[in-house]
Amino acid sequence: MPRQPILSVLGHVDSGKTTILDEIRESRIVEGEAGGITQMIGATEVPINTVEKVCGGLLDSLETELTIPGLLFIDTPGHAAFSSLRKRGGSISDIAVLVIDIQEGVQPQTEEAIKILQESETPFVVALNKVDTIPGWQNEDTCFTVNIKSQSDKVQQKLDEKIYEVMGELNEYDIVADRFDRIDSFQEKVAMVPTSAMTGEGLPELLMVLAGLSQNYLADRLEIHEGMGKGTVLEVSEQKGLGTTLDAIIYDGTAKKEDILVYGTSEGVKTTKIRALLEPRPLEEIRLDKQYQEVDQIKPAAGVKISGQDLKGVMSGSPIRTASKENLKEAKEEVRNELETTEFQTTTEGVVVKADSLGSLEAMMREVEKAEIPVQKAEVGKVTKGDLIEVENEEPEHQAILAFNTGMTDQTAEMEQEKDIPIFSSQVIYEIIDNYQTWKNQLQEEQREKALKAVTRPAEIRTMPQHVFRQSDPAVIGVKVEKGALTPGCTLMSKNGEKIGTLESIQEDGESIEEAPKGTQVAASIRGATIGRTFEKGDHLLTDITTKDYQRLQELEDLLSAGEKQVLKEIVEIKDEKNPHWKIG
Ligand code: GDP
Repeated sequence: MPRQPILSVLGHVDSGKTTILDEIRESRIVEGEAGGITQMIGATEVPINTVEKVCGGLLDSLETELTIPGLLFIDTPGHAAFSSLRKRGGSISDIAVLVIDIQEGVQPQTEEAIKILQESETPFVVALNKVDTIPGWQNEDTCFTVNIKSQSDKVQQKLDEKIYEVMGELNEYDIVADRFDRIDSFQEKVAMVPTSAMTGEGLPELLMVLAGLSQNYLADRLEIHEGMGKGTVLEVSEQKGLGTTLDAIIYDGTAKKEDILVYGTSEGVKTTKIRALLEPRPLEEIRLDKQYQEVDQIKPAAGVKISGQDLKGVMSGSPIRTASKENLKEAKEEVRNELETTEFQTTTEGVVVKADSLGSLEAMMREVEKAEIPVQKAEVGKVTKGDLIEVENEEPEHQAILAFNTGMTDQTAEMEQEKDIPIFSSQVIYEIIDNYQTWKNQLQEEQREKALKAVTRPAEIRTMPQHVFRQSDPAVIGVKVEKGALTPGCTLMSKNGEKIGTLESIQEDGESIEEAPKGTQVAASIRGATIGRTFEKGDHLLTDITTKDYQRLQELEDLLSAGEKQVLKEIVEIKDEKNPHWKIG
């Protein structure tokens, strides 16, 4: 017999993922129905007879007899949780629900979810949610197929318009989609089921399509094999009385209490003795101190909490195996192979990337690589003080941490303030990358502006004959800045390229100033110059640009004003005349 397909719910924030999951788990649609639902660790099982009951006659249209025992929904929606379900070359999530708000269409996180689904080759069904928000929509029944008949022509038309809009948007991602009840071949088209998590309508059809698709197209994946338990870690947590425990989804084989647990850490494969396999205690039996009950074995697909003797370093999203002595070697090999596919390209210099699970780290690193951001370390876990220390001596633009869906330790927060190293964290990958890039660009801009301050700027001044304050040593004379901006420290030259002297300081109304912009009149103090000998009153003078400064100015050209560019050209011509090779030093 096949196992239940493992299902994830993805989509943009506020599209209704949580409400859909809640509705499926607790709702009217399963309330009081035969079988009911089973709450597992990290997942909820909807038995097939519940699906059959709620879908009633709808299933007949599928022309398939359902032999899958049910649907296993992962409780946490979103692509971070989905990413935790990684396995070599794909996901242990067999099929996904992509929730799209019918009013909003494809949004940034929808796009991210689509990419993640496509990369892991996970089939999906679109829930076009919030159908109740279409003006005039009537809600007579929880079945969309029944309800649609009671809508006015205008409302039906409005719905179709919305559906076509989303179809068009999905087309941009090479997805051919259509309303589920208009599809001939589910292999060629992605089904879109209009739903309302608010009223529950459309959810019977959503379950039906998911069950039918899994039954028809995923049979191979749903076959359970004999032997070691295979799973993936959803979450690692500290539990009172149990120490470190991990929540895992088992998708193949059988996990037994007497098995040895093989798991992945950032340092490689480790093993430990299993202390207990735990399931939630049925609701009516929960006592405050006993939330879980022990079981001897777990058959897939199921969520389970595993308490082990030593789970040090276990990572969310890491593969696990439960093995006997006989197949321990094989189990270790399998976990090692899986971990190897998550080794990331790192360089000796760059930022530090952190994520909450191996899968989310993988998704994050894919985008980081595309954005060509160099990474010196990519790791699962919270941001630590060590991470900040690691980047503090890097190039300024690499003094940053990118944290996807993970927080920081308390000491890190203190240190972050002290060291002024930004931690870009979010539950959305593109936000982290965007924010980092914006910060980096700003930083580079500031650095360029700083660099510009350190070079001699091109400027032309006119000395004013009636304002000679001192003849020489230094010569002090009133000047008018004709072009560019004058800053102290530069060498001045004549229009023939002869050196005049060093501009020691500039004063305006008796006060020293750092910059005299175009048009201003200031008193210039020129060391090494003698008025009447090295230059004449009324002469035009230019700043002398060194080879090094010229090369820097070329890089910073976009920061120069039109006037500065013009006078630079003039300076270059004069200097070329004297020495055609000066530009290359
Ligand atoms: P998530 O961020 O995708 O998990 O979205 P939530 O399930 O938290 O829903 C976001 C908001 O949309 C909440 O206020 C819900 O009550 C509302 N919402 C969800 N589904 C529907 C729906 O089908 N119709 C309407 N009108 N509102 C909905």
